[in-house]
Amino acid sequence: MCQPQKTSNLFRAAAEVGSNHILKLYDTNGSVVKISPRLEANSEDSYYRLEVVASDLQSVGMPTELDDIESRLQHLESKVMEDAGKTPDIIDELKSQVESFKRKLESVQHLNWMGLFNKDGDHQRSKFSKKPTTPHLSVDQEHQQVRKNFTNMSSLQVTEKVREHLKTPNFDNWQWEEAEMLVLLQVMFTDLDFLMAFHIELDVLQNFLFEVYCHYNSIPFHNFHHCFCVTQMMYGLIWLTDLRSRLPRLDLLIMLTSALCHDLDHPGYNNVFQINAQTDLAIRYNDISPLENHHCAVAFGILAKPECNILKNLSSEQYRLVRGGMIRCILATDMARHNEILNKFKSIQPAFDFNNKEHKEVLMKIMVKVSDISNEARPMAVAEQWLDCLLQEFFNQSDTEKLKGLPVAAFMDRDKVSKPSSQTSFIRFVLLPLFSELTKLFPCLEEHILEPVRQALEYYSTLERAGKDEELTTKA
Ligand code: 5GP
Ligand code: MN
Repeated sequence: MCQPQKTSNLFRAAAEVGSNHILKLYDTNGSVVKISPRLEANSEDSYYRLEVVASDLQSVGMPTELDDIESRLQHLESKVMEDAGKTPDIIDELKSQVESFKRKLESVQHLNWMGLFNKDGDHQRSKFSKKPTTPHLSVDQEHQQVRKNFTNMSSLQVTEKVREHLKTPNFDNWQWEEAEMLVLLQVMFTDLDFLMAFHIELDVLQNFLFEVYCHYNSIPFHNFHHCFCVTQMMYGLIWLTDLRSRLPRLDLLIMLTSALCHDLDHPGYNNVFQINAQTDLAIRYNDISPLENHHCAVAFGILAKPECNILKNLSSEQYRLVRGGMIRCILATDMARHNEILNKFKSIQPAFDFNNKEHKEVLMKIMVKVSDISNEARPMAVAEQWLDCLLQEFFNQSDTEKLKGLPVAAFMDRDKVSKPSSQTSFIRFVLLPLFSELTKLFPCLEEHILEPVRQALEYYSTLERAGKDEELTTKA
């Protein structure tokens, strides 16, 4: 069996690209397929297409793999010298082969448009030398690895096709690594013209995005992947509803940044747990939305560092608006306030006015809320994996509650809940009422978010019925 890293390096070699370019494999339906040792064999009818989705067009220099081979050879040579006192012929031969190959490559540097070489001869570290992401790697080491990969990738040009796909709810987050997601988040800020409009320096945006990534925890659901999905859905909604022509750009910045920050430093245990267990967070925030208050405070803690402050060039009035808007949007994600916010939106809906400040503020909260709970609007395979993550986090919490003798919510209890039962009621009573209301304002959302959610309800209802029938048969 081939190691995952080896498999992806094999594909890199086939595509003749450096270690920091982003490669994706597509099936005949155009869906991204994970590059892994478990990849199904292709056939004439089901062939794969390998595509470089982000590359550095201006790059020049030596392929990083070759540098890596050279340094490994040097290391080997010095080891052998230590042990044997002389360089064996085989190493001399290998060295001359690498030299000759380098000379050949130098003579074809005019072919750099193929994306074969690195930028300015600045030899970036190859993925070959990357330590595998194994449990023995500390969180800090893992973060630094992602930072390095992000830095290496951040000047890449993401293809038009991927940029367009990024604007749709069909986007499959599971096919992208952390550093790649950071590149995509950078694309979202760039393509909404935030850098120009708010004088955000690229390195400040990159520092900010990286700090955001570092402040999400490695927990089953409320992790950086969730942060990415919610932000990507918000980004998609902005484009699908053409909000750029209806709202000031500052409001779009508030919504996208709120989505990005809305679950920062989530501990994996919900507000009810915080309050019942009288945690530090519940004490600090007097049982009032302790998590959401914390997420928001962490966000402004990151922005308080000058090197991460994407808001530093705003006027004081603009800053006041962004801060107020983000606090409102992030606090609105507390599901305990779901009905309050939805009812408010329903009441203003018949005469909705984009120029009315109060209307606009409710809409912004609704947009963040919809993005937050939009997994079921995604393709079934993407959504189902998210449900597994959510239930895992729920079960972790209820197990702890049982151990501590705290009250246990039925919807989190592994003895009471199943995937279908969890989804049918959530879709019926939470998702459909919320998504239908937003679709009244933006009818085009029907096909993009409402229809997939209806299909998910049908799917889980069928499963639920089948489960009940089986139960009856077993009892009879
Ligand atoms: P969040 O904690 O992510 O800010 O708020 C969303 C909450 O809504 C989650 O914690 C979870 O309780 C609930 N939720 C979101 N998506 C789903 C889903 O697909 N199924 C169920 N049953 N609950 C969900
Ligand atoms: Mn969330």
